[in-house]
Amino acid sequence: AGPDPAIQLIKERLSNVKHKILILSGKGGVGKSTVTSLLGHALAARKPDANVGILDADICGPSQPRVLGVRGEQVHNSGSGWSPVYVTDNLSVMSIGFLLASPDDAVIWRGPKKNGMIKQFLSEVDWGDLDYLLIDTPPGTSDEHLSAAQYLSAAGLSGALVVTTPQEVALLDVRKELHFCRKLGLPVLGVLENMSVFVCPNCNSRSEIFPATTGGARAMCAELGAALVGRLPLDPALARAADTGRDPLAPLADLPASPAVRALHDIA
Ligand code: ADP
Repeated sequence: AGPDPAIQLIKERLSNVKHKILILSGKGGVGKSTVTSLLGHALAARKPDANVGILDADICGPSQPRVLGVRGEQVHNSGSGWSPVYVTDNLSVMSIGFLLASPDDAVIWRGPKKNGMIKQFLSEVDWGDLDYLLIDTPPGTSDEHLSAAQYLSAAGLSGALVVTTPQEVALLDVRKELHFCRKLGLPVLGVLENMSVFVCPNCNSRSEIFPATTGGARAMCAELGAALVGRLPLDPALARAADTGRDPLAPLADLPASPAVRALHDIA
């Protein structure tokens, strides 16, 4: 077989996207989707002239419509492709969640069909000019990652950001994730440790909820030569914002004390 014709389409489609960033995690539930949406918000808020897009490539467990508060929105298909859903003037999102009849619908697809969907998302969404495209992937290193990585590498991927918690079980899978990136020649932008510490809102004392026995992400990054780009605290305000889909950054006045939001602003 010759080269996949989709590659050329994806290259053309994403030629107006400056930075393409793959967000990975070894395990589910470590906060990858939350971090992706926060990063999107933080980038869009910090740089009002920049356009930010989020592609929810978690085909079987799309959570961006919920965490971004745009569940139930419709995507439209026009002559120039699928229009993403706008969360704010400069933050847009595309997810299979918008294509399901009900948010409780299950997508039960085998690898090839999921790959086809990712190919379609990468080649047919009309993002316009974007400064950042954040691609939220399912946990692990499955088929979808391989195809997303292959297509995005051809289109000029900036790199991957790996999200983890400090727990040993999560870090073990991050190691695999980093090896996956090395094998495929994907640049690793860094590792972000989520739920690192809990800062009590009443007494400000710091508790390690998921204590790492071997030094957490910091030690692992040092060993594997990856950058630790940030540590986000466990933050009840963030969990609430993700559940209600309320933009956790727009009403910053409501969340001045949110340490996680502050930390993300610093990263973005
Ligand atoms: P993943 O995408 O890795 O499966 P999610 O982003 O869905 O994980 O997060 C899992 C749960 O943890 C969600 O309920 C989310 O609101 C919560 N969560 C994520 N990060 C934080 C945080 N820093 N503080 C508090 N809750 C968090």
